[in-house]
Amino acid sequence: MIRKKNLVFLGPPGAGKGTLSAPLMEDEKLAHISTGDILRAEIAAGTELGRSAKSFMDAGKLVPDEVVAGMVGKKLASAECASGFILDGFPRTVAQAGLLEEAMAKIGMKLDGVILFDAPEELLLKRLTARIMCRKCNTGYNKIFCPPKKEGVCDKCGGELYQRSDDSLETAKNRLAVYREQTAPLIEFYRAKGLLFTIDSSLPKQEGYDALRAVLQ
Ligand code: AMP
Repeated sequence: MIRKKNLVFLGPPGAGKGTLSAPLMEDEKLAHISTGDILRAEIAAGTELGRSAKSFMDAGKLVPDEVVAGMVGKKLASAECASGFILDGFPRTVAQAGLLEEAMAKIGMKLDGVILFDAPEELLLKRLTARIMCRKCNTGYNKIFCPPKKEGVCDKCGGELYQRSDDSLETAKNRLAVYREQTAPLIEFYRAKGLLFTIDSSLPKQEGYDALRAVLQ
């Protein structure tokens, strides 16, 4: 059993936030709110929101704060988040963290912990450019570190595996730069609030998961 259940996963792209969200949400019945997944679903559905987000995402830039904060606020207020949640990829700016605080205060919620996924950039680029995911169920794989049993096919649902357009080398580099400039200031923001816990996300998946559970006790 873990004690901290209202969580933010903070860290650069490729650090394993999505990878470790999957077992944690299953073992602890937490809701998983990935703003990236929500935006990709909007793009796939061809919505207005998806169309406006796509150009930012393809360039490796951040979608405007108000757009993502609005999406998250709605989710947090829903019943699925009542017994705990993982915010994966949100907040990504100090302004978003402020909007999150406001949204949570309105519904009487508070964060239990912000988990910083720490890994060297060299490894992140290696992971990002070899990353593939399922079109149907979003399960993530990696051609080098965690390949599917059959090339191009999801082990879980048989769906088609694809490479995200923003995982090309050039866009991945942009995303890391955006992380350093706009998201990394959140480390001090949450450290000052006594909410920050760091795990070494260069570890293999199981060891990383054990380290994550240890800080959530
Ligand atoms: P992710 O799946 O978390 O790597 O996000 C993919 C892309 O979606 C990012 O590079 C951004 O363009 C956009 N995105 C996801 N979450 C946010 C956020 N909290 N704020 C702004 N843009 C976001």
